[in-house]
Amino acid sequence: MNIILLGPPGAGKGTQAQRLVERHGMRQLSTGDMLRAAVKAATPVGLQAKAVMERGELVSDEIVSALIGEELDAMGSDTGAIFDGYPRTEAQAGSLDAILDERGRTLDHVIELAVDEDALVERITGRFTCANCGKGYHDTFEQPKVAGECDKCGSTEFKRRPDDNEETVRTRMAEYRAKTAPILPIYEARGIVSRVDGMADMDEVTAAIERLIST
Ligand code: ADP
Ligand code: AMP
Repeated sequence: MNIILLGPPGAGKGTQAQRLVERHGMRQLSTGDMLRAAVKAATPVGLQAKAVMERGELVSDEIVSALIGEELDAMGSDTGAIFDGYPRTEAQAGSLDAILDERGRTLDHVIELAVDEDALVERITGRFTCANCGKGYHDTFEQPKVAGECDKCGSTEFKRRPDDNEETVRTRMAEYRAKTAPILPIYEARGIVSRVDGMADMDEVTAAIERLIST
């Protein structure tokens, strides 16, 4: 199964992707994570992407589509893919069609996480992750069960993203509205879009996604 999770920054794509990975052994393909790894490793792609990401603008379509192709090639052909944060433009949506086609994969669901923009700044400025395993948390909405200790791996190191500040979030939302939201009709025309209430409790969102993918 191949799924796109679509929604603005902070909608809950990463949170729900991690849960799908745990429940179904699928693979999360987050272009944001791939780019952050490239920035950390100071690869040529990372060096090119760093300043763009810090501003909250979009990295070039060619770079992110190449990253997605490489990740798909590195995973088993029968492992399901969850696209998280990709595609983000019409050009990327076109590339994804070609990338999937070349690999004999088809897109089963595009799940739109619908959220109120007002809630997103709070979600994003309160977000942090385990520095070791990447499990996501939130200052208010999802604290580790034991304070200061990751539920999943026990690490006591956590990190916050440099672009998770209010000013950059506003640019990222504007990018979403201008370039990403307009790709929904492409998938609506194919009858594969489902809308989930992303304002609901995290477990309710998970349950709604489970219902969708099991039908
Ligand atoms: P995205 O990957 O779409 O940018 P995340 O999954 O990282 O978003 O979620 C952003 C923040 O909001 C995280 O800190 C996460 O714990 C929190 N969060 C995710 N889903 C919900 C929800 N349904 N209700 C409240 N907080 C949520
Ligand atoms: P994310 O982790 O999805 O919030 O992405 C963080 C940042 O990485 C974005 O603000 C963009 O600068 C960049 N990025 C991630 N995915 C893409 C993509 N598909 N297209 C362009 N830029 C991307």
